[in-house]
Amino acid sequence: MIVVGAGPSGSTAARGCAKAGLKTLILDREKLPRFKACGGGVTVKVDRIIDYKIPEEIIERKAYGVRLNYWNKSNSHLREYPITNLVSRSRFDKFLADKTVEAGAELMDGTIVSSVSKEGSTQTVESSEGKFTAKMIVGADGVNSIVSERVRPRLTQDELASTIEAEVPMSPEEIDVKFGNFLDVYFGNSVGIGYGWIFPKNDHISVGVGSLLRMFKNPKQRFIEFLGKMKLPLDVELHPHLIPLGNPKRRVVSDGIILVGDAAGYADPLTGEGIYSAIHSGKLASETIVQAFDKNNFKEEFLSTYHTECRSAFSEEFRRARKAAWVIYGMPFISYPLIIGNKEVLEKYVDILAGETTYKAFKQWAQPKLPSLLLKGLLGR
Ligand SMILES: Cc1cc2nc3c(=O)[nH]c(=O)nc-3n(C[C@H](O)[C@H](O)[C@H](O)COP(=O)(O)OP(=O)(O)OC[C@H]3O[C@@H](n4cnc5c(N)ncnc54)[C@H](O)[C@@H]3O)c2cc1C
Repeated sequence: MIVVGAGPSGSTAARGCAKAGLKTLILDREKLPRFKACGGGVTVKVDRIIDYKIPEEIIERKAYGVRLNYWNKSNSHLREYPITNLVSRSRFDKFLADKTVEAGAELMDGTIVSSVSKEGSTQTVESSEGKFTAKMIVGADGVNSIVSERVRPRLTQDELASTIEAEVPMSPEEIDVKFGNFLDVYFGNSVGIGYGWIFPKNDHISVGVGSLLRMFKNPKQRFIEFLGKMKLPLDVELHPHLIPLGNPKRRVVSDGIILVGDAAGYADPLTGEGIYSAIHSGKLASETIVQAFDKNNFKEEFLSTYHTECRSAFSEEFRRARKAAWVIYGMPFISYPLIIGNKEVLEKYVDILAGETTYKAFKQWAQPKLPSLLLKGLLGR
């Protein structure tokens, strides 16, 4: 079987298959380690779905809390325990790829896949290093996935967020003083309908802005303005990248093909968090694939168990996160005072990030008390 893409989703899927004894080839267009535009926030809920520990030397910093900033107001919540491990994606992804090879998979990095086709029950992958054939292909090739073209139409502007990220060098001491162990999130300012972030790492900070692709006009200019307002240097390398907005209904399988991670469109539409669902979907995909080989059944109907499992494990939550995104980003005059001014709401938001509660439970909690939460928010309590 062949996995296209050695990010968190692909490496997890390939490792699961290799561990179960399947002959597994994993291809990536880049030579590893490679750069990936990302805040590098690996929420601690990931720890609950993996069977290894993320080595301390890969974790650059641990975030214990979230600080929401709206113009000149801010609201913060700090926990006594870490809620997110902040990593550099080049090192994190290399670590995951190495684990995959350790489990017995063959990695061919620097191999660009150009198309996937099917003849009878055989899938053929065309690449810069020649043709490969297999019974099963996993599309783990990110938001601009080529493999996904065999499963569903391309994502539209309303299904994508546009982001720009930069890594700004800073001494660990300055990071300690200015950002500490917070995930800083910014509304308003230059960000418009969307948000900006500053995530502290070891010797740099990850700075970014993101918004719905259709609504994000002049992202580069917005980003430069944001850097200016944050009093950060403007001469940094900019990394534009798209994030798919998760939708539990989107097709993720067809005969002999399973999509995982960003290729499946699995990222949280409110926060843009995608590493957790990349790893979770990779794991569930490998379990379905092992059964498919066991039963020698690679038909879409059989593989659709994977879709159902993703829905019940995490992707059904995207529907609620999407609704929350419409309210929060679409009605800032209500939502920002509600969140910024309200300690209780922020605490629940941190619970969601840490995987201690769900959007569903949040909605059940917030709906009946919305008027009083709004009032408290406006009064700043
Ligand atoms: C600016 C930004 C900030 C983000 N911050 C966070 C965050 O802090 N926390 C979080 O949880 N999520 C974050 N995300 C989302 C997260 O980065 C993704 O959801 C996650 O990387 C998805 O993992 P993946 O393995 O599915 O895809 P990717 O990590 O995109 O990996 C895909 C791999 O496929 C390879 N590939 C692509 N095309 C081909 C091809 N044709 N042939 C061969 N190989 C190919 C690529 O080289 C790459 O290695 C952020 C995203 C962006 C854009």
